[in-house]
Amino acid sequence: MGRPALAGGPMSSAKILLPAPRVATEQEIRDVVVAQPRRGLPELIERALAASGALLRGHFGLQVGKHTEYFIRFRALARDPEVLDAIAGHLLATVVVPPDAVILVPESAGYFLGEAIRARADSGATLAVARTDIERRPARSLLHGAIPAGRPVVVVNDVVTTGASLEPLLDLVGDAGATVAAALVFGALDGTGFRAMLGRRRIAGDHLVEAGPAWAVLEPERCAACAAGHLPLVPAAELN
Ligand SMILES: [Zn+2]
Repeated sequence: MGRPALAGGPMSSAKILLPAPRVATEQEIRDVVVAQPRRGLPELIERALAASGALLRGHFGLQVGKHTEYFIRFRALARDPEVLDAIAGHLLATVVVPPDAVILVPESAGYFLGEAIRARADSGATLAVARTDIERRPARSLLHGAIPAGRPVVVVNDVVTTGASLEPLLDLVGDAGATVAAALVFGALDGTGFRAMLGRRRIAGDHLVEAGPAWAVLEPERCAACAAGHLPLVPAAELN
């Protein structure tokens, strides 16, 4: 059979969607996801990704406009309360959540991580939820909760690329006259870019996993799937 033939005429240059994304294999998980070398963490991540089917392989458009072959559905990982609590524990190992802190999350899968961090920190911290826009990017306004002036705020999200999607949340903290105490994410695909963003903003932060060399995050012009005429699934955040 081979590739489906495209009819000639005005549709001949049309791009086609690939088959639905599939769950990545255990080998693919090992090949592309790099966990920080902390005790027990790589094993936890590998086991949790395999059990949940949270790592997908396909052709995805990220919020930052880049394309990628893999996508982590954090919501699938977060369905296991023990895994979610362990992830929160690893993020809290490097950051202290002050008792009067506000934990700021977007109204997307990052919410589940923020709530797990709030529960695990057990410090009296409260949760505030930012709106997300139509493409499920965090927006610069609150949906729920409050950020009182002067309070320390821990910004939490599930998976970012460089952390650019966190910037509206960081700005929201500034708008409220509060201070960012830390930015915590499960994954930063571009770990170097994420650390650079934190450095520019002079804030503490942490991430547990990033994309390894075998996980390409590319400009659309350099994307092999696009070159083969396949449309990306955008915005990939819809999968969460
Ligand atoms: Zn592409």
